Amino acid sequence: MFREKTIQTKEGYFGQYGGQFVPPVLESPLARLAEEFSKAKNNPAFLKELHHLLKQYVGRPSPLYYASRLSDKVGSKIYLKREDLNHTGAHKINNCLGQILLAKHMNAREVVAETGAGQHGVATATAAALFGIPCKIFMGSRDAQRQKLNVQRMKLLGAEVITADRGTASLKDAVDVALGYYIDHPDAFYLLGSAVGPHPYPTIVHYFQQVIGEEARRQVLEQEKRLPDSIFACVGGGSNAIGLFSAFLNDPMVKIFAAEGGGEGADSPRTASTLVAGKPGVFQGTYSYCLVDENDEPREAYSVASGLDYPGVGPEHAHLKESGRVSYHCITDNEAIAAFYELSKLEGIIPAIESSHAVALAMKLLKDKKQLAIINLSGRGDKDVERDMEHE
Ligand SMILES: *Cc1c(COP(=O)(O)O)cnc(C)c1O
Repeated sequence: MFREKTIQTKEGYFGQYGGQFVPPVLESPLARLAEEFSKAKNNPAFLKELHHLLKQYVGRPSPLYYASRLSDKVGSKIYLKREDLNHTGAHKINNCLGQILLAKHMNAREVVAETGAGQHGVATATAAALFGIPCKIFMGSRDAQRQKLNVQRMKLLGAEVITADRGTASLKDAVDVALGYYIDHPDAFYLLGSAVGPHPYPTIVHYFQQVIGEEARRQVLEQEKRLPDSIFACVGGGSNAIGLFSAFLNDPMVKIFAAEGGGEGADSPRTASTLVAGKPGVFQGTYSYCLVDENDEPREAYSVASGLDYPGVGPEHAHLKESGRVSYHCITDNEAIAAFYELSKLEGIIPAIESSHAVALAMKLLKDKKQLAIINLSGRGDKDVERDMEHE
C-alpha cells in the first residue's frame, strides 16, 4: 500500500525547494526524526500497526463516490474521494496516526502540535489519547474563537490547548509559538500537520497521506476501468493535495489542479493564494513560496477557510508549480461558499469550507467538458455550519 514514490532530487529537496532552515538546536532532533522515519517505513511491524489503525480506527479505505447529481449539473463525470468520512472528519488523521506511531517508537514524553482550523489539533489530540501520550496544542486566539467546538473537542480528548495572541493570532503565529516551545523542549515530539516545515516533515507527511491517492487510483480503475482525465484538491500547506496527487504524478494524461484559498482574490492583500500571489523565500524552516509584503517580509494570509489561511505552502508544491505538472488556481471566498451550498443541496454532503475550494475549481474548469474527474473531499463541513449561518 505504501510504495515509495517521491520526486525528490536530493534528501529533503524537491527540485530547488525544501531543505532544512532551523536553529542549530533543532538539527539533532530533526536528524533523529529522519532516521527513525527511514527505519519505520522499512519495518514490517510498524507498517502492520499503521495499516491496522487505518482500517479499524480511521475506517479506510474511504469510498470513491460517484456524485451523479453534481455530475449532471456540471456536465462531467465527477467522483468524490470521501476523506470527510474518516474518523475525526478529515484527511489529517492519516498523518497524525503515522506520526504518533513514530513518537511511540521514539519514546517521546509528550506530543506538541499547532493547529489552524482545529482539525489538526483534534486529530493530534485523538491520536495522543489513543496512545496515552500527553499532548499540547498551540492555536491562534482568533482561530480558537472561530472554532470553539474544536477547542472543546481537544480538551475533551485530554489535550492542553494553548492560545497564541501575537501577530494575526492565526496559524502562522501558532506555528511560531509551538516551534519556540519545541526549541526549549527538544525531547518532545513535534507532530506537524501539513506537508510544510523543515526536512524531514514534507517527506513524512507526503508518505502518510499518499494512501489517499493509492486508494483513489485503484478505485477509479475498478469502477471506470481507466484513469481520470483530471484530479482536484485544495491546498493550504498541501497535505491532502499531495496525498491525492502523488499516485498520479507519473501519469501524464491525468491533469492535476489545485485550489488555493483566494480570500478576496489573488490581487487583494486579503488572500491566502501563496503559489499564485507569493514568491520564493525561506519561511518557517523551508525554502518554498510565501506571501510577502513590499519589504519581502512574510505577510498575513486571509481566507474564509481557517485550514487554508497560511502564508506558506509545502516545498513539493513549489516544485510542482514550477515544473508545470500541477496547475494552481486562486478560488475566492465567495466561489467556495457557493460550492459549499451547491454540494450540500445536490448530494446531501456538507463539505468543509476548505474542500469547497476544490469543488468550486472543478465546477469551473469541468463545465460541459464531459471529463472523468476526481475531487478530493478533504473534510466534512459540520464545523462550518454555524459560521455559515452567521452569514445568512
Ligand atoms: C487542514 C485542512 C486542509 C488544508 O490542509 P492541507 O495540508 O493543505 O491539506 C484542507 N481541508 C481540510 C478539511 C482541512 O482540515
